[in-house]
Amino acid sequence: MAVNGFLKNPIEYLKGVGPLRADLLKKELGIFTYEDLLNHFPFRHIDRTSVSVISQLKQEADFAQVAGVVLHVEIIGQRAGKRLVAQLKDKSGIMELTWFKGINWIQKTIIPGQSYLVFGRLGFFNGRPQFVHPEIEKIEPSQSLEKNYLEPVYSTTEKLRAKGLGGRQLAKLTQVLVAQLNPTVLPEILSPSLFTELSLMGRAAAYQQIHFPSNATQAAAALKRLKFEEFFIAQLRMQLVRAQRHHQSAGVLFEKVGDAFNRYYSTCLPFELTGAQKRVLKEIRTDTAKGTQMNRLLQGDVGSGKTIVALLAMLLAVDNGYQACIMAPTEILAQQHFASIQTSLATIGLSVALLTGSTKTTERKKLLAALEEGSLLLLVGTHALIEETVQFKKLGLVVIDEQHRFGVAQRARLWKKAAVPPHILVMTATPIPRTLAMTAYGDLDYSVIDELPPGRKPIQTVHRYEKDRSRVMEFIRTEIAKGRQIYIIYPLIEESAKLDYENLMKGYEEVKAFFPEPNYWISMVHGRQPAAQKEINMQRFISGDTQIMVATTVIEVGVNVPNATVMLIESAEKFGLSQLHQLRGRVGRGAEKSYCVLLTPPSIGKDASERMKIMVQTASGFEIAEKDLLLRGPGEIEGTRQSGALNFKLASLVHDRSLLEWAREQAARLLDADPTLGKPENQPLRYYLQQQKGAVNWSKIS
Ligand code: ADP
Ligand code: MG
Repeated sequence: MAVNGFLKNPIEYLKGVGPLRADLLKKELGIFTYEDLLNHFPFRHIDRTSVSVISQLKQEADFAQVAGVVLHVEIIGQRAGKRLVAQLKDKSGIMELTWFKGINWIQKTIIPGQSYLVFGRLGFFNGRPQFVHPEIEKIEPSQSLEKNYLEPVYSTTEKLRAKGLGGRQLAKLTQVLVAQLNPTVLPEILSPSLFTELSLMGRAAAYQQIHFPSNATQAAAALKRLKFEEFFIAQLRMQLVRAQRHHQSAGVLFEKVGDAFNRYYSTCLPFELTGAQKRVLKEIRTDTAKGTQMNRLLQGDVGSGKTIVALLAMLLAVDNGYQACIMAPTEILAQQHFASIQTSLATIGLSVALLTGSTKTTERKKLLAALEEGSLLLLVGTHALIEETVQFKKLGLVVIDEQHRFGVAQRARLWKKAAVPPHILVMTATPIPRTLAMTAYGDLDYSVIDELPPGRKPIQTVHRYEKDRSRVMEFIRTEIAKGRQIYIIYPLIEESAKLDYENLMKGYEEVKAFFPEPNYWISMVHGRQPAAQKEINMQRFISGDTQIMVATTVIEVGVNVPNATVMLIESAEKFGLSQLHQLRGRVGRGAEKSYCVLLTPPSIGKDASERMKIMVQTASGFEIAEKDLLLRGPGEIEGTRQSGALNFKLASLVHDRSLLEWAREQAARLLDADPTLGKPENQPLRYYLQQQKGAVNWSKIS
């Protein structure tokens, strides 16, 4: 199909844009081409179709337009308070128009006795409506006042405004461009049959109408079309990547379930797997037996038992003559995985090694050699695993725990370690709402453990205030008397690291005053400690030598101390929902009843109290994730921040979720019928996907 260059025209070709303006548009708004300007959408429209009467102006209406006669103009006040005030009268009443700037000019132009159409943001002063710095336009008293359109409002910058490229001027330029749009220069990308079936507005028309809608209905239809397109294209891209991995990319073949897996399963497994664990294991088993690469996201709430699933998958690799590794985000977590895997594998005589930043040189050398010659089959580690020097003989499976700490690029480096890409299992304990997961990770297969191991006692969560502190401490004392252990967590926010650190130290002293040695022993762990120190303090708590762990969110991820029954979170209002939920997940891991105490100052903001309420009422991480999404929007959801897949210009993952669902289904259906978009009718779509930034690599994806 012919390349249509119209939209790729450099912006300076547009009438009204010279080299100077073009330069500014590029620098300030990243507008280089016609297409870029077209995609600089208005953030709102002003309804210019109606003229209000003064007596009926309402508090809530933020922009309004009225028509009337200027009665009287005067300058009042002095210096900073100096302003020009005009009275405007229509048949229903009188209101004030006020200017603080450009007074001289307004005074010269505004004429008492003359009729004006006045437009501006409505304010109220002493209960009476007024406009500050309104736009005014002379009219004849007999003139029809209705301007029949919705006026687009564009974001711009101070610099552009100063150079005469304010929102108004951008609208003018856009109008010049939009006037030239038609289905030839802006072709439909949906196939005729799909287009008809979905009954969406045409592409060119949608671009026209989103900027200059004829009426509100058309504006809504345009918006729907373009939002759908955003979701649809994003879904197509990801599903294509996924489909291509399934169809084309060669992967390691795990043909059989062998001795290691079976022996472990039948003799070492300390408990019956939950139904969800079995299901996920089966999904992994099926996936790895296909001969194509598995790339699977495993979600499961804190404590749902992901580790054992990972371990069994690793044994599957071993059974098929491959090596496997698991990568954890922190040294402590890697240590803990290592210790538990080592113990549980001892009985079946398999060895496992640990590689972290603090592994000693001699040991590291030995370990790396064993990896390279293939005598070492299982490896646990941190980021250290990604280093160039780490070479496997036959890597078959990579497990990445607590995925959100690793970037996509880091992941990619791991699977480049083998000629045939190893299977990837990405585990995350930060539940993401399903629709969001499908969008952000639509290129991955998706498994979820949606069931907790049986016999877990629910954690009781309470919200307490500063004044309750001594009662809380007394409660902690009784728990310790029963032989339990306690976490006390302080916030650590990067911007105020120093202050937080001081608070932590102060808190530590306070805790020590309540719980003095030698009856009580306290561990403290925070980010400023050397790794070895952190490690020692952590280990003392894990082994039960200390009863209290005072820490920052360093311990947020993954640590497992089943004897700990109280999680006290200081300044809980400073934490996000998912973080609070993660922290809470550190308790309730043993047989005893556990508690989570959220301690805050007496008055906290509305959002913060909402978060506390949700925590007290809700135990499920998935439900919390849903609420988090509503409260904060997708950009802030842990684990999705780096994902460009969530940056939509028009569509919102929070508000347009049914549209997203629809787009996802349509994309799946389309690819079902035409997996490579090879049919003639899908050529425009295929071409469009190829043109996009970061286009789908049609030859190979891994
Ligand atoms: P997470 O999903 O948060 O990584 P873990 O894998 O650390 O959870 O498991 C949490 C705890 O639950 C561990 O102590 C683990 O031994 C235990 N566990 C896992 N699966 C089961 C099960 N099916 N029955 C009983 N306990 C289980
Ligand atoms: Mg875990």
